[in-house]
Amino acid sequence: AIALLNSYSGIAGMTTGFVLQNNLLIVAGSLVGASGIILTQIMCKAMNRSLANVLFGGLQAQAAAAAGKDEGYTKVKSTSAEEVAAVLDAATSVIFVPGYGMAVAQAQHKVRELATLLQKKGCNVRYAIHPVAGRMPGHMNILLAEADVPYEQLYELDRINDDFKNTAVVIVRGANDGCNPAATRDPASPIAGMPVLAVWDARTVIVVKRSLSAGYSGIKNELFQMDNSLMLFADAKKALEDVIAELKAL
Ligand code: NDP
Repeated sequence: AIALLNSYSGIAGMTTGFVLQNNLLIVAGSLVGASGIILTQIMCKAMNRSLANVLFGGLQAQAAAAAGKDEGYTKVKSTSAEEVAAVLDAATSVIFVPGYGMAVAQAQHKVRELATLLQKKGCNVRYAIHPVAGRMPGHMNILLAEADVPYEQLYELDRINDDFKNTAVVIVRGANDGCNPAATRDPASPIAGMPVLAVWDARTVIVVKRSLSAGYSGIKNELFQMDNSLMLFADAKKALEDVIAELKAL
């Protein structure tokens, strides 16, 4: 929706350029307008939703959230920073999956610190970026770049999805919808058909978030109670600080 509004600002600029007969304004306005529309189309494709659904789908999300309230999780396994550090100490490959919660907690610098620690132990570290993770296009890329994460360690969904099955540990930090198996398994789900990161294929999945509450789409995530999932209930930054301290102490 923001990308679309952005493109309208470009179209308005271009139109003003025609009225004022200002070529620079026409060219600049056209570029902003066209790039905004292209970005809107890319984001809709990444969510497998029509533009109308993106613009007016908020009510559906609320309805889904309301419907999901009664669906309890029955077999969630919670873990501790100490246990996560032990799992990571033995891992040879780790993929970090950042989401909106990383932005809220401003945990990107701690992620980089943990990644550096793991790399020093000989672990292969990568980051899987979902195209609509966070709340704006490129949200995760910006935050990770701010923390000086090397660009070559960032992998888009298409490039990394087949690699989860060869990965020892996946750490999902503040992400939810971007790795919800309902998108591929439940045709009635509001996010059915949205491409998702197949994190559940990894040997162990550690999900760092504060509670079992839903993400943006407002729906339940079966990932939280899969056999190979462990939940670390905490603020993403605090959780990573604790894991780093435990890992250093090993
Ligand atoms: P989600 O919105 O699905 O989930 C974010 C999760 O972060 C929540 O479940 C929340 O759980 C957790 N969280 C919040 N604060 C913290 C914190 N301080 N520490 C740890 N965890 C925290 O995020 P995703 O990034 O996976 O998915 C993005 C969603 O946003 C998609 O549905 C996408 O369609 C939508 N969207 C994306 C836009 C974009 O341009 N990228 C624009 C508009 C919408 P808890 O409260 O339990 O901690």
